[in-house]
Parts: sequence; structure tokens; C-alpha cells
Amino acid sequence: MNTDIFTPLEVWFVVGSQHLYGPETLEQVAADSQKIADGLNASGKLPVKVVLQPTVKSPEEVYNVCQAANAAPNCIGLVCWMHTFSPAKMWIAGLSALQKPFAQLHTQFNAEIPWSTIDMDFMNLNQTAHGGREFGFIGTRMKLGRKVIVGHWQDADVLARLDVWMRAAAAWHDAQGAKFARFGDNMREVAVTEGNKVSAQMQFGYSVNGYGVGDLVAVVNGVAESDVSELIAVYMDSYNVAPELQTGGNRHQSLRDAARIELGIRTFLEDGGFKGYTDTFEDLHGLKQLPGVASQRLMADGYGFGAEGDWKTAALLRAMKVMSVGLEGGTSFMEDYTYHFSPKGNKVLGAHMLEICPSIAAAKPSLEIHPLGIGGKEDPVRLVFDSQTGPAINATVIDLGARYRLLVNTVDVVPTDEPLPKLPVARALWTPHPNFQEGVAAWILAGGAHHTGYSLCLTAEHMEDFATMAGVEYLLIGENSTLADIKKELKWNDVYYHLGLGN
Ligand code: MN
Repeated sequence: MNTDIFTPLEVWFVVGSQHLYGPETLEQVAADSQKIADGLNASGKLPVKVVLQPTVKSPEEVYNVCQAANAAPNCIGLVCWMHTFSPAKMWIAGLSALQKPFAQLHTQFNAEIPWSTIDMDFMNLNQTAHGGREFGFIGTRMKLGRKVIVGHWQDADVLARLDVWMRAAAAWHDAQGAKFARFGDNMREVAVTEGNKVSAQMQFGYSVNGYGVGDLVAVVNGVAESDVSELIAVYMDSYNVAPELQTGGNRHQSLRDAARIELGIRTFLEDGGFKGYTDTFEDLHGLKQLPGVASQRLMADGYGFGAEGDWKTAALLRAMKVMSVGLEGGTSFMEDYTYHFSPKGNKVLGAHMLEICPSIAAAKPSLEIHPLGIGGKEDPVRLVFDSQTGPAINATVIDLGARYRLLVNTVDVVPTDEPLPKLPVARALWTPHPNFQEGVAAWILAGGAHHTGYSLCLTAEHMEDFATMAGVEYLLIGENSTLADIKKELKWNDVYYHLGLGN
């Protein structure tokens, strides 16, 4: 997935004022707003272009710009700024109608006070300090989820906060109307990967539908041998391919089968306009192997993926892929697999049966074939590698029945203590925050799934902004969390949502 996905998108910059100030001041407001919009676009720090709208000065103008934003297919949200005071009852109708995310940029055109020349004209033009509070009040009064970004618009930190919000808004935009395909149902008897797909569509905007594995098999079987050969050449260029899989090797046919499966799934997804999919080792009729390298490479191209029918993680991963575009590091489907208990520090070994995205690889992956203990199919071909190291997050969405919870744990990904020559899957080793014992206990008490979206390029802030846009519970297990506080937060959140968002 490349930055092309952001190219057509727009964030509308909506500046509030009022007629009280007269035309001269309003002209200055419009001119300053244009300079800010131009400055933001010229910064090179924002993934989505900022498009200035005419200054809004009345309830009708506010309402009209909000409705126009709703109808604009490429508008992913509003950034609102009050250059002057903008009486906020003017904003009620517009914000009530607004169906897109918004952020409040609490900034000021000038940076420092001009001590020797400041007069009341200057004061009346630069009223963010109190105009932004009036706007903030109505957002709070109306219980609207939004992000507030404070600071001078040229500050690196303000641009960083806007960058994060824009990425979350782009992912939210991408989810609206997105389609996810399921090949097979959930892994039998598994609880956490279940959920209400109708509720999810109402809450997150994406739809999830099932397709017969036979329908996929028909596409896989229809792939041309010449296309398989072309993809094998790509594999040879991209990975260290095990000799037994190479042309002339005694398992080369398995590589061709794997390539054919990748091409078949890819065609199915492209033809159907899907942004991700799930499969399950319990339902592979007609597929020779559980898709391994196929799912890994499709994830690398930005598709969401969830194993064992886990559609919530597939959709979450897709959102994380959109947010990640152009950033250093990688983003993958992940599972907390095995623990390392040691006096030198406890750690989690993350992996999956096969399906870890090579975008997180520290070095060129190896393409290998090994037996798979479950599923009853032929040995699957998979990419094997170690994850990059550094700060990362694990995120999960769980269905609590009456609501969704987006749970995030920040982690430190570390090198493995020793090589893992016998482990035939891609892996990552990490220490959860705030520490292993509290982090893992908090995750379990919060009902967090074993499957996650794992990212070395996103932060908890991306996920928090996304949760705010979705209107779902957000819970962070971070560096400063304590188990005692998390336990209380879980109870408070239950009360808050039981009361219906506190209304
Ligand atoms: Mn799994």
C-alpha cells in the first residue's frame, strides 16, 4: 500500500468567526486562515491536504459547511479553528448534522505577543484563547467525540498531532462501506473472535460477509500457469527461497501451489472490492495448503487479515494499515503465542501458525516449507523472519455484547536472546508495558483477544483517535498504567456505557 491512498483525500479547514467584527477584520481572518492552510500544506508533515473553507459567521454557514462535508466523498473530516470569538450556539445545528470526524485546532495566527505594539485591535483579532473555549464548551455540552490540538500551528508537535489525527480519519473514511470477505466461519468454539456483525457495521461502517471456500477454489484453479511462473520470479527476487522450493527442487510444486493460492485470493479480493479477509484451517476444502505466504504478502499490500475467522481483527488491521501508510516500521496480524519466564525479565513471543506480515521483518525473509500440525492439508509455504525491534503497540477490538472495546498495550520489541533455528514461523519478542505482570493481567481483565494488530509505526494515539471517531470504548495499558487503575477504569467504563454515553 502506498501514499496514493491519501492523494485524493481532503481535510476541511473551517474557521469560525462572526459578523460583529466588520468586514475589515473578517478579511484579515480569511487571509490569516489561508496562510495557515498554505503553511500546513507546505510543511510536508501532513499526509492529507488541507482545504480552507470560507469563514463561517452564522448558524446557516456552519450548518451548510457541515452538510457539504457530509456530502463530499473525499472529505475525511474537519479541522475547526476559532481565530476570533464565534458564539457557539451557531455551531449546534451544524455539529448535530456533521457525520464526519472533527478536531479542534486551538492555535493562534501569531506566535509571540508583540509587546511594544499590542493594542486592542490586535487583541480583538487574536481571540483563540477564549474563542476556542466557547467552541470547546459546545462540543462538551453536546458530548461530541473529538480531538483538541493545542499549540502554535507551525510547531512540530502540533503538526505531529494533526498527522496522527489525519491518519486515523483516513482509516475511518476507508472503513465506511468497506467490505471484508470470510472464507469459512470462526474456528469452532472460540469465543473472542465471535461478535455481532450487524452491530459492527452500524458502529464501524464496514460489512462482513461469508463466501464458500469453493467459490475461492474456483478462482484459484482458474489462475494461469504463466501467472504462477511470474509470481515465482517475484518470490525469487524478494526472499531467500529454500533450495527445495526452487525450480528443480523436490518441493517446487508446493511453491507453485502457494503462488496459485495467492493469485487466486488476490483476484477474488480485487474482483469483489474487498479490503481484507479471513480464513480458517478448519475449512479449506479444495485448497491444497492453508494460505501462508499468500496472507503474508496480501497483508504487506495493505489488506486486512484475520486467521480462524477473526473478522474484527481483519478490519482493525486494515484500519491500522491505512494509518501506517508511508511510516517507518511495519504492521501485522499477531498473536501472543508463548512466554519466556526468566529472572532476567519475562517476555512474550508473538507469532502465528503462518500469517505474519513481512512489513515488520528486520531482514530479508526466508521462504520455507514445513509441516503444519493441524488442518490436515499439505505442508504450507511461509515467510520466516524476525521482527524489527523498538517501541510498538498491540491492539484488539472485542465485542462485549452491548459495545465494542478497543484495547491497546504499548510494548518494547526486543531481539531474541538466541537464534531460533527450529522455529518455522515469523516472530516478534516483546515486553509489555507497564511491565510483564501488570500488562498481561490488565489485558486479560480487559478481555483482550489473543489476536492483535501489531505495529511498529503506530502509537496508542493513533488508536485513541480512531476509537474516538468510531465512538467506542478506548482502553490503554501503557507505560504509566497500573493494574489497580485499570481495574477501576474498567468498572467506570462499564457504568459510563451502561448509562448510554452518560446522556
Ligand atoms: Mn490464531
